Amino acid sequence: VTEKTDVIVIGGGYAGVMAANRLTQRDDVAVTLINPRPDFVERIRLHQLVGGSDDAVVDYRDVLAEGIRLVVDSVTRIDASERTVMLATRRTLGYDYLIYAVGSGSGSTREGVPGAAEFAYPIASLEEACRLRSVLDATPATAAVTVVGGGPSGIETASELAESGRAVTLVCGEVLGPYLHPRTRRTVAKRLSELGVTVIDGPDSTVTAVTRDAALLRDGRELLSAVTIWTAGFGVPDLAARSGLGTDARGRLLTDEALISADDARIVAAGDSAAPSDLPFRMSCQAAGPLGIQAADTVLSLLTGERPAPVAVGFVGQCISLGRHGGVFQFARRNDSAVGFYLSGRIGAWVKELVCWSTVKQLTIETRKPGWLTLSFAKKGERQRMLYAEDRTVDARAKAVDVASRP
Ligand SMILES: Cc1cc2nc3c(=O)[nH]c(=O)nc-3n(C[C@H](O)[C@H](O)[C@H](O)COP(=O)(O)OP(=O)(O)OC[C@H]3O[C@@H](n4cnc5c(N)ncnc54)[C@H](O)[C@@H]3O)c2cc1C
Repeated sequence: VTEKTDVIVIGGGYAGVMAANRLTQRDDVAVTLINPRPDFVERIRLHQLVGGSDDAVVDYRDVLAEGIRLVVDSVTRIDASERTVMLATRRTLGYDYLIYAVGSGSGSTREGVPGAAEFAYPIASLEEACRLRSVLDATPATAAVTVVGGGPSGIETASELAESGRAVTLVCGEVLGPYLHPRTRRTVAKRLSELGVTVIDGPDSTVTAVTRDAALLRDGRELLSAVTIWTAGFGVPDLAARSGLGTDARGRLLTDEALISADDARIVAAGDSAAPSDLPFRMSCQAAGPLGIQAADTVLSLLTGERPAPVAVGFVGQCISLGRHGGVFQFARRNDSAVGFYLSGRIGAWVKELVCWSTVKQLTIETRKPGWLTLSFAKKGERQRMLYAEDRTVDARAKAVDVASRP
């Protein structure tokens, strides 16, 4: 019997599932995916779950290749020296290589705002979105709803709820849609107004406290709010830091350009929880897929003693739904900066739906044809130029090649 190489993937989101499927290219690799839930969560549809137009879950049988062992559990600690992971159920599993893909969540983003942890509802995870849904179901349809955060999740949630007849105020904190080109922002503002959303933006629109029935703004304004929804930024799980692995300031695993941990050549990161060269990509599903591909390819290279390729993620833009019948697709340069061109209206909504559908479709394709996808739109040399300009490179590669050559 040939010994198999054990690869554990922590986190069954877009990056982790992509990586796990891709690893099945080799018959001598045994892949275990650890995730706290038995279903795949389409996080990019969680605002739809809140609004009632989608349940945002997919059966793992549809997106996970045959032969991958799914362990429904949470990793509580990684012991890099022993090459083991500890689970919440107190079991311990050993690995030869580990892919760290724990994603992001609402984290500690409400910290420092009195009352926010108690009275504001985040929507960054399935459980949070379900909880918010039941709170809304128990709240009269005419009651005031406040959405905190003018980024894409805030805009999408506000639109979805306004379309279903809720009285919604969107409090941006700063600018509405900070990523967007001014022309696109005007279109988004117009659509929000058509849906009946009151938008409060500008420097004084930061929420400084939340109570059971109000949100307080920096300039002293008090907004009556029966339900306050928190979408102001993502945090990441502290598993890497808790396990003594090097992270960036926000807790993402610090890696080199091949996504190999700066501390341990058997650990590779992907998705929202990866910080290559301390210059991470925007937390997004758009980057998570390519990072999952990259992480698997790095492990496969290490197995054959090849030099892993540097990460290459190119962006195409930002896609925001504005209810079920509208949306914008903001085009961007491959380095993730917005340009003055966008799609809107029903075409924008259609493109957004296509994007959501295709992210799951890509995973399904990889179950049948692992290694088939290439999602690299990166401009050659651009990231290297940025890294040198910022004087950042984490070098783990020499260590990694050394590990691969060991029995
Ligand atoms: C409402 C909303 C709308 C969004 N819309 C868009 C969009 O339009 N476009 C876009 O690009 N991005 C969007 N995003 C962001 C996008 O969802 C994330 O960036 C993306 O999910 C990151 O993928 P990931 O695989 O890194 O992590 P995730 O999808 O977060 O998956 C990580 C998985 O790891 C699991 N996990 C965490 N800790 C552990 C542990 N200790 N042990 C085991 N498992 C663990 C988690 O439970 C989760 O299942 C949206 C997010 C939200 C909330």
